[in-house]
Amino acid sequence: MNRQQREKLIAVTKHWSSPMQFDVPMASYSTLRAGGKAAALIDVHCLVELQMLLRQLHEQQLVFRVIGRGSNILVKDKGFSGVIIRLKGEFENISPVQKNSDSDENGEEIVYVGSGCSLGSLLSWCTKQGLSGLECMSGIPGSVGGAVRMNAGALGGEISDCLHSLVLLDAEGIALQVPKSELQFSYRRAGWGEKNFDTLIVAFAVFSLKPEAQEGIHSRCAAFLAQRKGKQPTGVASAGSFFKNPAGDAAGRLIDAAGLKGHCCGEAMISPVHANFIVNTGGSSAADILALMEEVQETVLQRFSVKLEPEVEIL
Ligand code: FAD
Repeated sequence: MNRQQREKLIAVTKHWSSPMQFDVPMASYSTLRAGGKAAALIDVHCLVELQMLLRQLHEQQLVFRVIGRGSNILVKDKGFSGVIIRLKGEFENISPVQKNSDSDENGEEIVYVGSGCSLGSLLSWCTKQGLSGLECMSGIPGSVGGAVRMNAGALGGEISDCLHSLVLLDAEGIALQVPKSELQFSYRRAGWGEKNFDTLIVAFAVFSLKPEAQEGIHSRCAAFLAQRKGKQPTGVASAGSFFKNPAGDAAGRLIDAAGLKGHCCGEAMISPVHANFIVNTGGSSAADILALMEEVQETVLQRFSVKLEPEVEIL
């Protein structure tokens, strides 16, 4: 990013609640606690700001990426040359359910949620309101936008299961409400026809949720959380499962069978608790993590003729 582009960005955002930051170490914004710098990073607080920023980025021909809570990303050590955008303020809101007018024909309630809202906050809200459907998201440390983009899932459920529609923005800031029937969701993937989903921003997600007694929802959330305990490493920097499960198998089983549990590259290690978790044991670089990723891919390919694809988004 050149000086002129920086100055334009400063001018556009100078009265906003969060100033544009430059040369930002992305390790602070990724649960892997590793990675290079972003040329710029900004928190936007409302749709108007987001649309103004996107128009400016388009004019300046600057690349951008929206991130949520950074629980599935790794920025290469050489850094990201564009602008990282985080959705805050109105993008963290959950709209109160309109009991009569917004109940759908199945007796379900329609709920508008900003993409910047954390899954944890959404689940607490749903439990309080007595609305079920999203319990399988318990323990996933992402945002609603990140979860939709990744079609996050666990224990047989996916976020798309109770999705009603999305409010998407294109790279020029034009907003469109797209019904679920026009979207394609598969294992850790969201799509909208021929469009490249990487160029779209999920601004709001609209869910269709079932009224149910609080106790049932609460106990299902607790059961999902309990199932994670002991099976996944806790208190260490990771991005969850690093590789997608190949059809009919589990990446963790293959990595374990290849004898790679505990294997290290620099300070990146295959977790001894769960072989599909790459953990940062201290000051790992993105290069350490990527070298370990490649070693795992090569070993598993040689041993089992299976090419493991990363689930983590490498920017
Ligand atoms: P980020 O990591 O910030 O971004 C992920 C991708 O989404 C990036 O490509 C980013 O550009 C894009 N993105 C983010 N927000 C938007 C937006 N508003 N619009 C468009 N694109 C956007 N995942 C599972 O599926 N199941 C699990 O059980 C699970 N367990 C985990 C456990 C741990 C301990 C950890 C660390 C991670 C786990 N994950 C799991 C991975 C991760 O939490 C999910 O993929 C999560 O949904 C990512 O959300 P995020 O907000 O952190 O996204």
